[in-house]
Amino acid sequence: MTRPTLTERLAQRSAERAQAGLLRRLRTIEHADGAWVQSQGRRLLSFCSNDYLGLAQHPALIDALKRAADDNGVGSGSAHLICGHRTAHAELEEALAAWTGRERALLFSTGYMANLGVMQALLQRDDLCVQDKLNHACLLDGAQLAGAELKRYPHADVEAAARQLASHTDTAALLATDGVFSMDGDIAPLGDLAALCRQENATFMVDDAHGLGVLGAQGEGSVTAAGLGQNEVPVLMATLGKALGCSGAFVAGSAALIDGLVQSARTYIYTTAMPPALAAATLAAVTLAQTESWRRNKLHTLIARFRQGAAQLGLPLMPSPTAIQPLLLGDARMALDASEALERQGFLVTAIRPPTVPQGKARLRITLSAAHEEADVDRLLEALSGLPVKRPV
Ligand SMILES: *Cc1c(COP(=O)(O)O)cnc(C)c1O
Repeated sequence: MTRPTLTERLAQRSAERAQAGLLRRLRTIEHADGAWVQSQGRRLLSFCSNDYLGLAQHPALIDALKRAADDNGVGSGSAHLICGHRTAHAELEEALAAWTGRERALLFSTGYMANLGVMQALLQRDDLCVQDKLNHACLLDGAQLAGAELKRYPHADVEAAARQLASHTDTAALLATDGVFSMDGDIAPLGDLAALCRQENATFMVDDAHGLGVLGAQGEGSVTAAGLGQNEVPVLMATLGKALGCSGAFVAGSAALIDGLVQSARTYIYTTAMPPALAAATLAAVTLAQTESWRRNKLHTLIARFRQGAAQLGLPLMPSPTAIQPLLLGDARMALDASEALERQGFLVTAIRPPTVPQGKARLRITLSAAHEEADVDRLLEALSGLPVKRPV
């Protein structure tokens, strides 16, 4: 028999990753307190969470979660379509639709499942799916799961996207992009992409996981901030586990889209509804994200302070106006060394390496939050100034 053993093959692949300095390591956080975490008994100031508005530990969320758990228990007990859809879910869906300016919204248990479900429901085999090369992994997986012909254009290259759409004018087409790119922090050229989709009769989908709560006057996200609405971006997806500090995701759009997803999105139909207490906590987070604009203002002040300080130090910061402020180091080993050096000084900043980012584009993915203070940013800058990460001349 020459049949390979699957577990052995997997172990071989892990060994290869370790050799290349690409082994992924799990870290246990023993305690979290605002931007501070405790790991292996040490307190570290974290610059790698996606809790951009500092809501994950807000008393109003904790209170809503506890009260809903007292009333409803923990598990929803079933899928939405059986008997798992509770009042808390319905209220959250209404609030999310109103916030993002859409007719309806539909909850999913995770962003990964939302993207798989939307793509599998919308796309048929041999349809065209055009995507930015730097889109989140689950958008790419979604197109593959649907059996669509996936074409990936160079990052933010609208003309390349136009050529890809023009190459197949007789198939249905979906163009999908991250609103804010998760590892780069820059914003997609949403206006130009929307115009292209209109011209080519392609459906436009935006994954706004990192824009919701952060961009727009009331935190409505990158799409509203770009002056676009439901007509221009008929499929909007965002997550609840980032700026909202909870967990889960939603898709928002027309009543027809949402009804269609309820009928056809397998990751919606065949899975347990999120705990209703989590929906209640998320509703509290939506209210705070909308109304407490000081959180957004503080975040943007910190972003500006960090960018200015990094520029003065000549650090290789990538161009980003959002909470994601990556420091491009190139080599995976260098990124890991920098992360370890920061940890010795009391900072938690993770190194992001291939294949999460392209070869030669390893980086420190620094994220800022309204939970940080100006002094925290200054301390990080001081630590960074001591690292051998200056821009090469
Ligand atoms: C985090 C993220 C997801 C996945 O969301 P989860 O709820 O964590 O599964 C999808 N898209 C983007 C752009 C993300 O950053």
